[in-house]
Amino acid sequence: MTTLTRRNMLAAGTALPFVGLAAGAARAEAPMKGASFASHRRFMIGDFEVTTILGGTTPRENPQGIFGMNVSEEEFATVSEENFLSTEASQFFFTPTLVNTGSELVLFDTGLNAAATLSAIEGAGYSADQVDVVVLTHMHGDHIGGLMNNGGPTFANARYVTGQVEFDHWAAAENDGFEANVRPLADQMTFIGDGNDVVSGITGMAAFGHTPGHMVYRLDSADKGLVIFADLANHPVWSLARPDWEVRFDADKEAAAASRRNVLGMIAADRVPAIGYHMPFPAVGYVDTGSNDAEFQWVPEAGQLMG
Ligand SMILES: [Zn+2]
Repeated sequence: MTTLTRRNMLAAGTALPFVGLAAGAARAEAPMKGASFASHRRFMIGDFEVTTILGGTTPRENPQGIFGMNVSEEEFATVSEENFLSTEASQFFFTPTLVNTGSELVLFDTGLNAAATLSAIEGAGYSADQVDVVVLTHMHGDHIGGLMNNGGPTFANARYVTGQVEFDHWAAAENDGFEANVRPLADQMTFIGDGNDVVSGITGMAAFGHTPGHMVYRLDSADKGLVIFADLANHPVWSLARPDWEVRFDADKEAAAASRRNVLGMIAADRVPAIGYHMPFPAVGYVDTGSNDAEFQWVPEAGQLMG
């Protein structure tokens, strides 16, 4: 005959889910920790080691004040509901990317501020002074906010690469963020256009619209590819399923929609992985042509890149 001890009951509970749940609930004395997840994700693309780092995440109310500004409340609600999305609030993510080519460490965009981005870089096992090249996809505050730290450059050993059109636009715009973060570094910047390389295997492509000179970047290494599409599309559903939905942050709404269609179509046709700065962290996935009335679909990476 077995004695029914508390330990035996808990062990038995593993085979009896409801018993286990009740027993577990009675012992739940560890403190609640709040929602969390890892702050970096690393994988190989050919010979390049790619790391996405979470520079920040924040909830925003009233997502239709940002996405789908040109459609009815009903249409926005229907598409959102079909995709398990709330119309009350949405979570925003900010994800810079590090690419180690083997000879240079390249950082794409710098996050909202130096402190958060440095903490994510260090969490991923790097230090700021290891960064050789900083690429700015465009010059909105959540991409240039980490360039300067206490009045000096955050990445002391870096040179900078950005689109000529983008730089010229902001240089003439009397923009405080540009003047504080970008202009002081202009002497160390190289300006590129469509089809130009950052380093061997990293090529810029014009994808204008979100800002006047917004660019996306293609990695090519040992027959593998990946596209860093930055703010070409800012939400996995509201921007991919509906590229024509107007986004508050797109400077030229028509050009932004045309760029979305063009670049997303290319990524879908090439069937290469992609990183989107505002996709849900770790911000890595694939783009497919959509089903039903969705034009494109974001397919989160599901272990394909771990090998
Ligand atoms: Zn952005």
